[in-house]
Amino acid sequence: MFSERSVTDRLREKSRIPASSALVLGIGDDCAIYRPRGSADDLLFTTDMCIEGVHFETGTHKPAEIAYVALARSVSDIAAMGGRPRFSLVSVALGEQKPMPALFDALAKYAAEFEAPLAGGDLARSDRMFLDVMVAGSVPRGTALRRAGARPGHEIWVSGALGGSALGLEKKTGKAWRRHVRPQPRIELGEFLRSKLRATACMDLSDGLSLDLERLCVASGCSADIAEPPRFPGATLEQALHGGEDYELLFTVRPGTRVPAQFNRIPLTRIGNIGVGAAGEVRLNGARLPGLGYDHLRR
Ligand SMILES: [Mg+2]
Repeated sequence: MFSERSVTDRLREKSRIPASSALVLGIGDDCAIYRPRGSADDLLFTTDMCIEGVHFETGTHKPAEIAYVALARSVSDIAAMGGRPRFSLVSVALGEQKPMPALFDALAKYAAEFEAPLAGGDLARSDRMFLDVMVAGSVPRGTALRRAGARPGHEIWVSGALGGSALGLEKKTGKAWRRHVRPQPRIELGEFLRSKLRATACMDLSDGLSLDLERLCVASGCSADIAEPPRFPGATLEQALHGGEDYELLFTVRPGTRVPAQFNRIPLTRIGNIGVGAAGEVRLNGARLPGLGYDHLRR
C-alpha cells in the first residue's frame, strides 16, 4: 500500500548516512540530529509543510492563524525531542490571494514568540498557498528523546486531552476551534520529560494517537496496549483516537517512574503499556486498533 511509511522507508533505505557524517539520526523521527564536533549540544532539524486545502482554508483561517499553525507544527517536533527551538526558515508560496501583510507580520511575531526567530526563506507564487517551515533547535549532546527507545514493560503516557483539534475542525467555533488554530507546542514539557523523567521514547501527536503510537511502536520494535485516552470536552472517542493536530506529547517511561499528575497545569495521563507483540501492533482494551490517523499519501 502506498503510504507515508512506504515512502519514508524507501527514502531511508536510499539515504544511508556515511559513517564519517556528523548526522547521528536521519529519516524516521520527529527531527534529524546533527552533532557538531566538540559541541556541547546536538542540533535538531525539522521541516513541515502547511498547504491550502489540506491544512487550512483561506476562507476559515485568518492569516495570523495560518502563520501560527505553520510554525507550531515544526516547533512541536523540536518539543518532541526534548529540545529548544533556535531559529526558523520559512518559505511561502502565495496563491490567488493578494499579498497578505498580516501573514508575514504574524510569521515574524510568532517565530519570535516561539524563540525561533526568522532567519530566511523563500517566496513564490503558486496555484494554491503553502508554507514550508524549517525549524532548527538544540538539545544537550546525546540526550534527544527519540521514538525508538520504548521497551516492553514501559508505561505509555500522553499530555493534555485528545481530539480537540479534530472537534474544532468539525465545529469551526468555540474552545475546540481555538484548540485547532492555536495548538501549544509542549517545549517545557519536552525538556522536563528529557531531563527529569528520562523518558525512554517521545513523539508529538500530529496525525492521531492510533497512527502515531503505531509509528512509535514500529520504531521501538514493540507493541502497545492502551485504554481510552483522555478526551477534549465534547470530542468523540474516534476524534481522540484518530484525529490529528493536537500536538500533545506521547511518551514512554520506565516502570515505576514518578510522573506527576500534571506539568504546568497540563494533565499527564497514563494510557497503557508497551508489550512484546508484533512491532507496531496497538490494542485498545484488548482489541486491535488500526492506525487510522492522518496519512497524507494513503488512498
Ligand atoms: Mg512529529
